[in-house]
Amino acid sequence: LMFGKARTCNIVTVPEHEPSECNIVILGAMGSGKSALTVKFLTKRFISEYDPNLEDTYSSEEVVDQQPFIVKVMDTADQDGPVNCERYLSWANAFIIVYSIDNRNSFQACQQYIETVTLYSKGLQPDTPVILLGNKVDMERYRQVSKADGAALASRFGCRFFEVSACLDFLSVQHIFHEVVREVRRE
Ligand code: GDP
Ligand code: MG
Repeated sequence: LMFGKARTCNIVTVPEHEPSECNIVILGAMGSGKSALTVKFLTKRFISEYDPNLEDTYSSEEVVDQQPFIVKVMDTADQDGPVNCERYLSWANAFIIVYSIDNRNSFQACQQYIETVTLYSKGLQPDTPVILLGNKVDMERYRQVSKADGAALASRFGCRFFEVSACLDFLSVQHIFHEVVREVRRE
């Protein structure tokens, strides 16, 4: 799938400069919906079956507040929590750490990721935004992680917090990625 190619005609304003780049790394337990969110953002479609071991980086030309950006998204596929983090730590301009609201274990896994990336990015100037994201709000009936728990974890580490569903509306998913770009631009 060539997500990057499919969207290269997306710039509506002629940039005066080369567009800024924003590298976003998606982290979280297997099954939390990292690939579904990434694909939704890039294609507006929900793809329910995605190779769980596939890790790849995609590129999309986005316009955020009339400014063009090349947004690169690394959809990671860790099996055992934060290991071999070197591959993304220095590359990232921002991290989105995903859990599934219907799976308590995936929320616990987030804590490890938040600790790892905030420990790394603390020493950096500018520091790297970290966003905590509870996915699968369409599974409300099976919720195991309250919104308050998500918000509390995020505030403990000074992160923004959102809840979303990869299989509901595209604009809510796009909004989160664009907020990440705004935070990076602000740094
Ligand atoms: P990853 O391992 O974090 O990349 O997770 P995937 O994107 O492969 O998703 C794991 C499973 O959860 C798949 O069966 C998806 O169809 C499903 N899934 C992903 N996002 C959502 C969501 O927002 N709602 C629901 N109901 N299922 C989702
Ligand atoms: Mg995946």
